[in-house]
Order: sequence, then C-alpha cells, then structure tokens
Amino acid sequence: MTTAARVRRISPSPSVAAAQRVRELKSQGLTIHDLTVGEPDFDTPAHVKAAAIRAIEAGETKYTSVNGTPALRAAIIEKLRRRHGLEYTDGTITVGGGAKQVIFLALTATLDEGDEVVIPAPYWVSYPDMVRANDGTPVVVDCPESDGFKLTPERLRPALTDRTRWVVLNTPGNPTGSAYTTAELRALAAVLLEHPHVRVLTDEIYDEIWYDDGASPSLAAVEPRLADRVFLTNGVSKTYAMTGWRLGYGAGPADLVTAVNTLQSQISSCPSSISQAAAAAALGGPQDFVRESVEVYRARRDTTVKLIREIPQLTCTTPSGGFYLLVNCRAAVGRLTPTGHRIQDDEDFARHLLDSEQVAVIHGSAYGAPGYFRISFATSTEVLTEACARIAAACAALSERPS
Ligand code: PMP
Repeated sequence: MTTAARVRRISPSPSVAAAQRVRELKSQGLTIHDLTVGEPDFDTPAHVKAAAIRAIEAGETKYTSVNGTPALRAAIIEKLRRRHGLEYTDGTITVGGGAKQVIFLALTATLDEGDEVVIPAPYWVSYPDMVRANDGTPVVVDCPESDGFKLTPERLRPALTDRTRWVVLNTPGNPTGSAYTTAELRALAAVLLEHPHVRVLTDEIYDEIWYDDGASPSLAAVEPRLADRVFLTNGVSKTYAMTGWRLGYGAGPADLVTAVNTLQSQISSCPSSISQAAAAAALGGPQDFVRESVEVYRARRDTTVKLIREIPQLTCTTPSGGFYLLVNCRAAVGRLTPTGHRIQDDEDFARHLLDSEQVAVIHGSAYGAPGYFRISFATSTEVLTEACARIAAACAALSERPS
C-alpha cells in the first residue's frame, strides 16, 4: 500500500512511543518508575459518571447536532464567561473528539500548501506534525529558559511573514508549565495587531490546573480587539480526569467555527452523545474535584521541584500550571556512564535513566527542547519520590565532565 505524502511527512507521537516502551518493559517483568504519563491519575468524578449513565438510560444515545448538544454548548459558554469573562454565543462554539481533534480541524480548515504556523518551542509534540499533515509549514521559534520558555514580541515579529496563518500559544504549556502573564499577552497582542492576517490558536487545555493567583490569563479576554482572530481550544480531559471520554471544544470567529463544523459533519458527525452529557455535567456541575485535585498536584509539584533541585547536575523552573516539569540536564551531557558510554544528548540521558534506574521520562528534543527532559507529576508522591531518588543515583553514577 502506498500512503499519502501527508502521512509520510509525520511520525507517531513520541509520548505515545514512550508509553509503548514502558508497557513493553513492564511486560518483561521490570518495575518501571513511570514519569511519562500525560493524563491525570485520578478517576473521573462520580457525578460526571452518573450523568453519563443517566444519558444512556434516558436514551440520549443518538447523533447530536454537529456542534454538540445545547446543554454542552451552554456549559462551555458559561465556563468561558466564569473563568475569563468572555462572551461567546452558540454559533461560535465547536466540539470534537478531544481538543486534539478540534485543533487538527482548525488547521485543516485554514491551511493551504506552504502556509506557515508559528510554533514557540518548547511545544506540545503534536503541533508540528498536525501542521505538516495539513500541508502547512511549521515555523518553530526557540524560546529559551531565560525567557521562561515563552514567546516574546522580539522573537515573534521576525517569524511573521505574508504566509503566516496562525501563531500557536499553549498556556499553561506542555511540557514547560509556563504561562503567559496578562502583560506578556498584551505585548504579543501589540505585534499581532500590526498583522491582521494572522490568527492565534490558544491551547488552554491546562487552564484550570493552575497554581498562581487568579485565573490563567486568556488572550481573547486580555485583548478584545483580537477576539475575532483568536481560536480558543480547551477540553475536559485534564481538568476533570476525562482523557478517555474524548471531548474537547473550540471557541472563536463564526466563519472559522462554521468551517470546522462542516469538516466535522463529514468526519465524525458529532462527538459521543454520552461523553457530551458527561462533559456538560463536568463543566456545569460542582467544581470541588478541580480544587481538590489541583491541591494534590500542587503538593506533588513542590515535592518534585525540591527533589530535582537537590540533584547537582539538574535544574528546573517552577511551573505555574499543568502537571509537567521540564528539567535541564545539560550539565549531564558529555559525562561517562559506569559502563564507559558518553552521554551524547538528552535522548541518551533519558535512556541512561531507563537502563540504569528504570525511570521513564521523555527527552526534551521531542518537544523542541534539546538538553531537557520532561517529568509528569500526574502520579503518586511515592512514585515521584522513588523516581527522583533514582534519578539522583543515575546522576551520581556519571563521571566528572571532561574539561
Ligand atoms: N493540548 C495539549 C498541550 C495537550 O497536552 C493535550 C493532551 N496531551 C491536548 C491538547 C489534547 O487533549 P485532548 O485529550 O482534549 O485531545
């Protein structure tokens, strides 16, 4: 079988590949201390499950409108009003099988061959391949740790061309946990206002897993003059521990939302009616689960940051949101392992952690962040503490760096 060029241009997600490797090692009987997981380790809240069961029993088991049930759309509109003071209407909301699908379809709806999408690095692994799969060209802009891994106006401006269709802003970000402040979004907005042909895709999937004061700022709310050029994406996967329910949404200009809905009508007709009922209950129901789980994540974040900072060869910044830590391992590169192997790069370092101490992490290059690795703290404090002790042992086993 010959596959289409768009498939040959992309590769399976490195995080999916890492999860597969962990599964293989576990099936060989090894105990793996797994810090690769990109989903909450909590169960979906009981009232959300109950809403899904009620939907099944009430016969809500048929196709819905392409853009979701009225109850779900109302819950999404209310959530965006509550969280950010944003005012969306029915025609400006779209829903899909996860934020991933919604982002993909927004790109399908807008990219022609050679159109450019600005992606700040470190980035979520899927963005560049999603752009390539839709015939576009990813324009990756490196955002160093010294800038908090965030895009600045100085770096944004030269990346914009006549072919730029989108700038992607993931805030709080995977894999960094960095989030843009209101002032930083305003500064980026000033540049974007000079380029009316550019739209902004804000991926806010981690917005409620938030450790700082107030709410994580959202570009559409910070700069209302940009609101008709912002496509805000989010979902219930992370906030409500609902990754398997596959329900995400987008909010933005009606022409774009209509285009996404048209594609959706030919792709899946609508997301699962049962997942929609569950998502409406999650967004519209009591939010205690969110508050409680964020406090658990916060404690894990603080423990992990402290333990990593105690390891001489590693450094990290404290995330403002999400459940990931991007750890700088540049000081370990170039050292020798006890078997005489010289650590070449971050991928090699991640392999050393797995081989010598059975700790699984994802190398930073997968996220456009060479010299780093990603830890997920969506796992128990016991696993985190044991894994950090093992990472410390793996680092201590390395030779002095050659001068
Ligand atoms: N954006 C980011 C930054 C993510 O990390 C993920 C999940 N890994 C998604 C989007 C997709 O989430 P969903 O489950 O809603 O498709």
